This record gives sequence, C-alpha cells and structure tokens, in this order.
Amino acid sequence: FLLRNSEYDFMITEVSASSSITAAPSLAQVEVTALKGVGAQLAIKLGKLNITTIQDLLFHLPLRYMDRTRVTPIGAVQPMANVVVEGEIKGSSVVFGRRRSLMCRIQDGTGVMTLRFFHFSSAQKNNLAPGTRIRCFGEARRGSSGLELYHPEYELLSEGKPLPLDDRLTPVYPITEGITQQRLRALTDQALAYMDSHTVEELLPAECHPQAISLQEAVVYLHRPPAHAPTLQLLEGTHPFQQRLAFEELLAHHLSMLKLRQAWQQTPSLTLPKPVALLKKFQTHLAFELTNAQQQVADEIAADLSQPIPMLRLVQGDVGSGKTVVAALAALQAVGNGHQVAIMAPTEILAEQHRITFTQWFEPMGISVGWLSGKQKVAERREQMQAVASGDAQVVVGTHALFQDDVEFADLALTIVDEQHRFGVHQRLALREKGDRVGARSHQLIMTATPIPRTLAMSAYADLDCSIIYELPPGRTPVKTAAISQERRIEVMQRVRNACLKGRQAYWVCTLIEESEVLEAQAAEAAAVELAQALPEIKIGLVHGRMKPAEKEQAMQSFKAGETQLLVATTVIEVGVDVSNASLMIIENPERLGLAQLHQLRGRVGRGRAESHCVLLYGSPLSQYGKERLKVMRETSDGFVIAEKDLELRGPGEVLGTRQTGDMQFKLADLRRDAALLGDVKVAASKILERHSEVIDPLIKRWLGNSEHYAGV
Ligand code: ADP
Ligand code: MG
Repeated sequence: FLLRNSEYDFMITEVSASSSITAAPSLAQVEVTALKGVGAQLAIKLGKLNITTIQDLLFHLPLRYMDRTRVTPIGAVQPMANVVVEGEIKGSSVVFGRRRSLMCRIQDGTGVMTLRFFHFSSAQKNNLAPGTRIRCFGEARRGSSGLELYHPEYELLSEGKPLPLDDRLTPVYPITEGITQQRLRALTDQALAYMDSHTVEELLPAECHPQAISLQEAVVYLHRPPAHAPTLQLLEGTHPFQQRLAFEELLAHHLSMLKLRQAWQQTPSLTLPKPVALLKKFQTHLAFELTNAQQQVADEIAADLSQPIPMLRLVQGDVGSGKTVVAALAALQAVGNGHQVAIMAPTEILAEQHRITFTQWFEPMGISVGWLSGKQKVAERREQMQAVASGDAQVVVGTHALFQDDVEFADLALTIVDEQHRFGVHQRLALREKGDRVGARSHQLIMTATPIPRTLAMSAYADLDCSIIYELPPGRTPVKTAAISQERRIEVMQRVRNACLKGRQAYWVCTLIEESEVLEAQAAEAAAVELAQALPEIKIGLVHGRMKPAEKEQAMQSFKAGETQLLVATTVIEVGVDVSNASLMIIENPERLGLAQLHQLRGRVGRGRAESHCVLLYGSPLSQYGKERLKVMRETSDGFVIAEKDLELRGPGEVLGTRQTGDMQFKLADLRRDAALLGDVKVAASKILERHSEVIDPLIKRWLGNSEHYAGV
C-alpha cells in the first residue's frame, strides 16, 4: 500500500504479517548500557523513565516539538505558542514588582512584545541596549504588559552575519532529574543508529492495524522529523505516524484493563437466581412504577448476578434518573438468596441519604439495614460491626468506613458503589479486593452520579460493562437557568425573598475558593449573615462541611420540614439532598466549578411540581471560557451533553478527577484528539484477547512500563 501524498516526503512501506519474523535481532534484547556513555549511574536514571533496553528508549517518544524553523511576526504570536521572534530592542528597564525583573521591549513592525527575565546579570542588561536586533525563542504568555516571553533563549543579530534557523523540528522529550534534553537527544541518536542492524518489535498482528504503517519508519520519523515535515500536523499530534503509535498506546491501556477484568473473573462468583416473589413484593410497595430504562438496566444486572462470573458493571444515568431503586433491586437479588450486600457512598451526606432510603424500603420487608460511617461513635460502630460480622445486617450502607480492615462481612455477595466518578481503576481494584469474599468472588456494581463522556467511558472504564438509564422518570420539568452578574446581587436577593414569601424554598450555594473546606465554610457563614440582614422576614438555615453531623442533620431536617425557607450551603449539598419543595437555587461564583458539578448541584431543584429556576451568580468579568461554560448550563439540562462539553472544555484530567488522571496518562495519545481511534481500539483488543494473547504483556510493558498494578491480580 502506497500513500501518494505530496505533503509527505516519504513512502509508507508494506508491512508484513508480522515483522518480528524478520531476521534482524530485536532491540528489546539490547540493554541501554550497550550505548556509549551509559554506565551504571545513568542506567539507574533511565530506569526511572522505564527505559532499560534500547527499544524502551526508542519508545520514549517526544512529548512535543519545538519549531525553530521559522520566525513568527510579533503581531501574529498567539498566547501559549512556542515561537521564534525577531525585532529591534526599544528599551530595557528593571522593574520592582512582586519580583525584581528585567523587562525588554522589542518591536518588529507588526507589533511589540516584552521579554521578561527574573535572573539577569548587569552585563546582560547592558547588552540588551536599544537599537540592537535580537532573535528570541520562548513560550508566549499574557502578562501585565501584553504578550511576554519569560526567560527566552536569545541571540543578538548583527548586520551581514545571518544566523541560520533550524531546518527541522526539535524533539522535546519527557525527562527526569539528572537527564537533560541534550542527553536524551544524543542517546536517541545512538539508538536510532542501531536500527540499521536491529529492529523494534512489531507487536500488532496484521489484522489489528488500523493503517498499514511500518513501526520502524514511524519511530525514526517521530524522533527526527525530516526537514519539510508537516509541522502543524506534528505539533497537533495528528500525523499518521503519531496516530499509528497513539493507536498502539490506547490499545495497550485498553488491554491492561481487560486483563485486570479477565484475571478477576478467573475465580467464579456465587450464582444468584432472580428472587421473583421478593422483587414483586418490593415493587408493589414502591411509590412509583419503574421507567422502561430502569427496568432494562435492572434486567441486565439481574442477568449478570445469576451467572457464576463476578459482575463488573457500571450504571450511568443522569442526576435524578433513579439509580437508587436500580441498586435496591440488585441488593434484593443478593438478600433473596441469603447473602449480604454492601452499599458504599463517597460522602457522609450521601451515605446518610442512602441509609434513610434503604431503611424505608427494606425494613418493612423484614430486611435489616446496617450502617458504618467514619463519624460514628465507638460503641455504635462496634455494635454495627458485630451485626455485619454475624450476618444480622443483611444490607450494609456506609462510606469508605465499610471497607476498613477491621470490618468483616459474614457473607458478602454484592458490593454497590455510588461513586460520583471519582475512583480510578486502581481504587476500584482495591475496593474489589476489600469487598472480596473467601471461596467465591463478590459481584460489583458501580453507579456514577453524573454521566461520563462516551470516549472516557470507553477508556477509563474499559474493565466494566456499561448500562445506561437513558430517560428520566416522567413529570420532570427542566430547570430554567439564568446567568446574572454579582453586580446585581441585591436584585437576586429580592428575587429569593419574593419566592420564599410565596411559599417556595430556595438554596443559596457558596462554591469553594480553592479546595478548602474551611474557606468555603467561612464564605457560607458570611453569606448567611448577609442574607439574614437583607431578608429579615425569611427563616434561613446553614449547612456546610465543617459542622458536626448532628448539626448538619438538624439543618437539613428543618429545611426538609419547611421550617427554614432558605438554605445557605456549600457544595456539600451536591449529593444526596432531596427536598421537592425547593424550586430555586442560587449558585455563587459558578465559574469556579466544573460543568458536571454544576449540573449535579442544579439537580437538587426541579424535583417537585413547581417550575424551578437556577441563577448562576457569576463574578464579572467572566473569561471567554467561563462564558462558554455558563452558556452550556443555560442551554441544556441533559447530563450526557454536559459531560461531553465538559470534556471538550476542560479535558479528561479535570473531568475524571485527580484520582483517575494517573491511570489515564498517556505518552502520546490524547483522549480528546484521538477519540475517533477508540472504536478500532476496542475491536483490535478483542481480536488480540481471542487470538494473539502472546502480545498482550509486551504491549502493556512497552506503553505502561512495569507498573506493579498490572502485574498480577
Ligand atoms: P439518582 O439517579 O440521581 O441517584 P435517585 O435514585 O435519587 O436518582 O432518584 C431521584 C428521585 O426520583 C427520587 O426521589 C426517586 O424516588 C424518584 N424516582 C426514581 N425512579 C422513579 C420513577 N420510575 N418514577 C418516579 N419517580 C422516581
Ligand atoms: Mg444518586
């Protein structure tokens, strides 16, 4: 297969069915110490980058490239871009701001910009004299004086002595302490020379190639892109060679997760046949009919549970789609077969809410509900632990306290985790292990509080089967959302007053300043005082994360009972609060929150019959990005759409949360950019599992290193 495209100055050669058959010896067998200058010391440092063989070094690919092949006119420089600019120095001065710095203004006829140096010598300062021409390279940022280059590399230009520009892109490698870019470039030069006599192993079976691209060629090209390589493509990571390797990397991640799943499912679980009579009894006492979507998901779970293979299933549904009742049906299937169920929630408030719900549903049916929380008194905890160990507690609700080492279940068959999508694969694995039983594996059901974008679900949750509750229960009216500036705060307070006087209830939510519960609590306290002064005729409650559980409970109960009309709260009310008379929510500084979190908060209203409103009380001026996000909130109330937008605007790290980000760190692949590859990745992964299992471990090792998490389950 030949690619005729004038853009490329190379040909893509045909790939044989498996090029590992080729005669040349593999670089996977050659230690890095074979390279000149690599002794024991450097080998240890390279080991920290997961590089032990020359092949590992060749798969240590550039993170990005620097483009020093052309000069960008100052007027065309974009913030965040790495650029070469040339200009005439207009003036230099030392300024004493927060930090002493040398500022140097340069101009090229298309615009002006500033070079800023925090460390400088007086000789350097004198050299940057007005009238001198200079060429600089650095990353442009928006600074106090407009566009600035911080500590650029620079050279002074002189008449008649042209400085050549680079003729090709410079690779930038991921580095670690004690290994510089220059060092890595020199080492890869040597490694690339080895490719004349050796090969890098082609691990992908021919049937799994998305495009027939030679691995050898791709590796050489990406380390040393030739002159005239399509710069923009390479910088964006969309070059076919990059895509070829990104595909392989995504595949390796996918396989590592499937492998975890397979290893876990080697051990059988209990088969739990559907307890038809018990389920029927439960449903006749339920205040509502299941939606079709709930029924469908419940059926999928029921089918899993009746198999001797441990269930690993994720239930996604929008806020308010009714995941709890689906969890209850699953729980009944374990209880009906005489076994225990653990239900874990991420926060005290949500756990408490579940305890109340499950107690109300199950105790009338003679099913006992136990309770384990971190904030429990010692005596109560001891008593509850006994009930769990003896099997007297059939359903046990709690926070992480459920899986502390001293907790022993009599007969756990199913673990349900309501996770607010905060756990990464390793946390899930740890939970699985904690919830595991002797002799047979327990089943695991994970519910996310808000939908996960499809591409993230396909990658970060590849170890789970996925069910989606695709509709909301009938009778919900979407919440009307408005974005209003803090400048109109007084007006908004009056709006709250009017609503409360008409018998409605409202939330006033203070969002966090940095990740600080203390500051957030202070903000809420201050807002409560301010609102009490402004609205003397309104009864106001307060709830935040720094209050004692009993105080929080009291505040929530008063609000639920309608004794307080306005509840000032922090984001602790994000989950678990269910007051159907509340139909107005004010969110202060919504620009600080992610879309998923805003959506989750907003889901606290719109639960009753009255039309509900949400006011996003933003601090002005809003950034462009802030505006875009609030616009999304105004325009849609579909959690799946919001999740996709959140991914688009904030990226996978932010959307998944910090815990998962570690799992989803790629060398080369980018989930947003390479989303289109994921379908093929999935297909290739199943082919490999079926027919080419010998390449699984080498692929995982190549891309994920020797991470002990993947070693064995
Ligand atoms: P989430 O999916 O956000 O966890 P919940 O399980 O808390 O949603 O359900 C939200 C609300 O909807 C609860 O008050 C619940 O009782 C109610 N609900 C759930 N399913 C139905 C249904 N099929 N019909 C009517 N109301 C329902
Ligand atoms: Mg829920």
